[in-house]
Amino acid sequence: MSELTVPGTGAGEIDPRLWDRVDDDLRRTRRATAEIDAILERAADGERLRGEEALLLLRQAPLLDLGMAADLVRRRLHPEPIVTYIVDRNINYTNVCVVRCSFCAFYRDPGHPEGYLHSKESLFAKIEETLALGGTGILMQGGHHPDLPLEWYEDLLRSFKGKFPRLHVHAFSPPEIQHIVKVSRRPLEEVLRRLKAAGLDSIPGGGGEILVDEVRRTISPLKTMSDDWLAVMETAHLLGIPTTATMMFGHVESYADRVAHMEAIRGLQDTSLAKGGAAFTAFISWTYKTENTALGGREVSSAEYLRTQAVTRLFLDNIPNIQSSWVTQGKEIGQVALKFGANDMGSTMIEENVVRAAGAYGCTTRTEIERLIREAGYTPRQRDTLYRLVS
Ligand code: SF4
Repeated sequence: MSELTVPGTGAGEIDPRLWDRVDDDLRRTRRATAEIDAILERAADGERLRGEEALLLLRQAPLLDLGMAADLVRRRLHPEPIVTYIVDRNINYTNVCVVRCSFCAFYRDPGHPEGYLHSKESLFAKIEETLALGGTGILMQGGHHPDLPLEWYEDLLRSFKGKFPRLHVHAFSPPEIQHIVKVSRRPLEEVLRRLKAAGLDSIPGGGGEILVDEVRRTISPLKTMSDDWLAVMETAHLLGIPTTATMMFGHVESYADRVAHMEAIRGLQDTSLAKGGAAFTAFISWTYKTENTALGGREVSSAEYLRTQAVTRLFLDNIPNIQSSWVTQGKEIGQVALKFGANDMGSTMIEENVVRAAGAYGCTTRTEIERLIREAGYTPRQRDTLYRLVS
């Protein structure tokens, strides 16, 4: 007997209570649709979204409606049909790390035969190659090496600036900086001041993952917790050091956690802008890659990536740039992401090691990235780390 028949009646007779249920469901769906339409309209007009509205969008908004609203916001913020990109490389000066994040396939324990620490000469060669390819800067991050004091980082930065005075150094994520604080036993503000004086130009938002401690305790219990990540960025902004913000999602977090992460970033950006210091220049989200990781699990779909990126564009009304993550999503989805709120294609990635270790193979050339942008219907323009166009 079908669930739709009344017990004791003939086959095919529908229980009237089931029609009531269908009516209720329809009414609920219509109510949610009207609410979602209204939220999308307000967000597209530039109104600030509340956390619960972002949550509703993540859970229920039709994907293409989200894309259209995010695209309207992107066009309001960036009216020119330009998509920017940067020529640079991600240098990882060491893979030695004591933190053992379960999602990371890149690190090696101290003493491991595959552990490395690049020499200055090898880093100089990487920088020379980047500049020869038309690059303007480097993004440099590494593991939490147990033996490197603050003076080692200062000396490295000074040697970069001595040899390449015009190089923009975008380096050391907040967890690395907190690690330097711990190893060198100096206060955070002093560490940041000294790194800046030695040549640090801006700070990448690496290690943000999801800024919810419950999530962080699950995937990276030994790493900087949310408040300490935010404290680095707040102090950096006060000292005039620009930064970026990131989100790595699609592992153990919930939609509510993604929204909490965005709220933390937007709140800090409000504070930094009000104080008149530096601020987040961009928001970059990408999906967790599972290969060779202790955490394992399944990867989220590209639709899920696009949905989340669109909501970030709608929610983060005080952050000017959204970067498309072609490295984790592939080049075609990277192009589609330009219609879901992104105005930047990120880096040509002359070199990338971290997500490569977890199964994402993303390097390209200036010619290819420009072709991808043109094919998507935009004019490509090279930018520097601070999103200024390079002529
Ligand atoms: S993500 Fe960074 S901190 Fe975590 S294990 Fe990998 S290298 Fe270390």
